[in-house]
Amino acid sequence: MGFREETNIPAGPLNPKGERFETVMLHAGQERPDPVTGARATPVYLTTSFVFDDCDAAADVFALRKPGNIYSRLTNPTTDALERRIAALEGATAAIAVASGAAAIAYTVENLCRAGDHIVSSNTIYGGTFNYFEHTLKSHAVDCTFIDPTRPGTVGNFEDAIRENTKMVFIETIGNPNANLIDIDALAEMCHSHGVPLVVDNTFATPYLFRPLDHGADLVIESATKFIGGHGIVLGGVIAENGRFDWEGSGRFPWMVEADPSYHGISFAKDAPDCPFCTRVRAIILRDMGACISPVNSFALMQSLETLSLRVERHVYNMQRVVEFLEGHPKVERVNHPMLPDNPDHALYERYFPSGAGSIFTIETVGGREGAKRFADSVRLFSLLANVADMKSLVIHPASTTHSQMTEEELLASGIKPSTIRLSIGCENVEDIIADLDQALNKI
Ligand code: PLP
Repeated sequence: MGFREETNIPAGPLNPKGERFETVMLHAGQERPDPVTGARATPVYLTTSFVFDDCDAAADVFALRKPGNIYSRLTNPTTDALERRIAALEGATAAIAVASGAAAIAYTVENLCRAGDHIVSSNTIYGGTFNYFEHTLKSHAVDCTFIDPTRPGTVGNFEDAIRENTKMVFIETIGNPNANLIDIDALAEMCHSHGVPLVVDNTFATPYLFRPLDHGADLVIESATKFIGGHGIVLGGVIAENGRFDWEGSGRFPWMVEADPSYHGISFAKDAPDCPFCTRVRAIILRDMGACISPVNSFALMQSLETLSLRVERHVYNMQRVVEFLEGHPKVERVNHPMLPDNPDHALYERYFPSGAGSIFTIETVGGREGAKRFADSVRLFSLLANVADMKSLVIHPASTTHSQMTEEELLASGIKPSTIRLSIGCENVEDIIADLDQALNKI
């Protein structure tokens, strides 16, 4: 249906000269009234497009003279509410939601890079992202240098990899799958001294436990499919920014500064100073490539966002009990978690995560590959599936699944052994979780 839209839609990134994004958490009862029903809640605007009052009104919206919705590939009021809430949680001036976390990463790269460019990335990242950087991007003539952040001199190693044509440094706040950490403040300072933006995938921390923008990151990505959703029902991805990166001063991104002939001659950096990145992703990338999020998914993600803090608190509590249990188990050779004092990232954990973190981590079982698979095949409460951060506890054998496109050498360089098992500790009763792990480990 074509929903008749009035003027109650707040200024968004397509209205770059409009008001700043609100950075308050909106609750259902505080939403602006629906123009037709008067209901003060976020309806699901399940519509492709929005009816204009007349041709002049339509022309005003198309020419960015007035805020308003045109087509749900670009903006949708339900998605707009989700974006404003994520922006508030991340301490951002703006956020843009897309179809999945992978789309958020791809659109970030697409907005930062041209053929012939280069990026630098940690190698302790989600296997899908590794694949994209290592293989798919090569076919777009974008080269990636991977850095192993577990080696001494991390920040210097990233710095040594930066070239004239480097357009981003990419890391995960908490690495997938081994939960390794990086000194984000120091890395951000180094990146800025070269005019390169630091992009942080904050999926495993969530803005409840850590806000990368407060530590110098320029862009934050979330796979909303994980903790933000938490129920394993919908995919979604988000990019957030705080408008502080100096696009003009950097000199590496003329398309962010110069007049864009495909969008009314807009200069994203000058005309949308608070949110140039999200504005360009929306106006150009989403317009042209179209991996928009469904408003139904936005609605589902907003429902779960309301319990993010409660769920993450419980995930962290359960994780702490489980890590302590696994540390002493005879069938476990190693637990890779930074909360443990002998973990190389323990000092960073203490500094950056006062409320705890990392309910996704790995263990190495006895019995090599066969031992790990026997364990994963024996769990009963845990689900064996390719996701993390669900309310329910999950398990997977990365070397043969999520990271299976990597070579043996790449796997080992990323800290993934044949005996590595990834656990995602859910919100069930912790005694049940421990009992299930115990019985499955004892099957090895
Ligand atoms: N980032 C991280 C850290 C992930 O673990 C994943 C998926 O597992 C993604 C991004 C991709 O997100 P999505 O599955 O929503 O596309």
